[in-house]
Amino acid sequence: MINPQLIKDLLAADKRALARAITIVERSGTDARNLIHAISPHLGRAYTVGITGPPGAGKSTLVDRIASDLRTRGWNGSSDPKVGILAADPTSPFTGGAILADRVRMQRHYKDPGVYIRSMATRGSQGGLPRSTRDAMKLLDVYGTDVTIVETVGVGQAELDIMGLVDTVIVAVVPEGGDAMQAMKAGLMEIADLFVVNKADRPGADAVVRDISAVISWDSRPREWIPRVLSTRAVENVGVDKLVDSIGEHKGAAEQSGLLARRRSERRKQELFEIIRERVDRQAHFIISSNADLANLVQQVESAALDPHTAAETILQSILTP
Ligand code: GDP
Repeated sequence: MINPQLIKDLLAADKRALARAITIVERSGTDARNLIHAISPHLGRAYTVGITGPPGAGKSTLVDRIASDLRTRGWNGSSDPKVGILAADPTSPFTGGAILADRVRMQRHYKDPGVYIRSMATRGSQGGLPRSTRDAMKLLDVYGTDVTIVETVGVGQAELDIMGLVDTVIVAVVPEGGDAMQAMKAGLMEIADLFVVNKADRPGADAVVRDISAVISWDSRPREWIPRVLSTRAVENVGVDKLVDSIGEHKGAAEQSGLLARRRSERRKQELFEIIRERVDRQAHFIISSNADLANLVQQVESAALDPHTAAETILQSILTP
């Protein structure tokens, strides 16, 4: 059961209630489902931004700077915008949680009641996005953030997953190490709304900006938004204002063209199918583990005595027929 007071406190922008609620969705299960159901009528305020890129590109630093910039210059007509930050941190095998990163970040924003920061442990060292990120974003929305920034540790699929979660995708790379080439190979060209070449204080940044811009210009397909390429020096806070302006411009363009509405409705559909997949999967494991005949089919597949399609057919019938 979800305590109605928790929902009231959340809607009243109580930070402790928000922290408790995020813990509930992190645990998943019935409470998490009930909570998301209860807050659903109150959604729709936050604009969401995702930042991805290789470890060390300066994402955390950039996110901190973006939050500060939003807080000092305002956002979308509000001079006191609330900013939420969700950072996916690979679970440390030693602490079992994403604690250190929180502490480091907290130091900069801890005095500012307008910024809420939460690290969410990912499933293991590969990084990626915690499954509960989507739900945590909803909680931040209901809590009242104007902008929610989601930061991922870019490793393979995780980088691409961000696309399905946010309104504006930022891909951060650094001048050296062939980051930009890697990003292009990994399909990040396709998902980036904004490219940031961070650490522009280092040699080669201009060339990387030119290279990425060239690749973008080769794509002659008609597009509603042509990705921008910016450069920043996050530590010195140079270029961050332009980056924030570009987020605003992307938002404006996407609203005008209908792209934002389409992305959001596509996202809701994806979420539905993700939930269905997850629950069917869980149900399958449960039914198989409590049915010797089905468990036997699994063993036959393991020993190559039976092909997986035939086994799946039988198992699915058991799961899907009432
Ligand atoms: P993340 O792993 O992508 O989140 O990267 P961090 O934000 O933790 O930054 C990694 C390192 O790069 C830190 O030591 C930062 O201080 C440093 N860094 C971040 N931005 C810049 C920059 O613009 N120039 C330089 N030289 N270093 C930077």
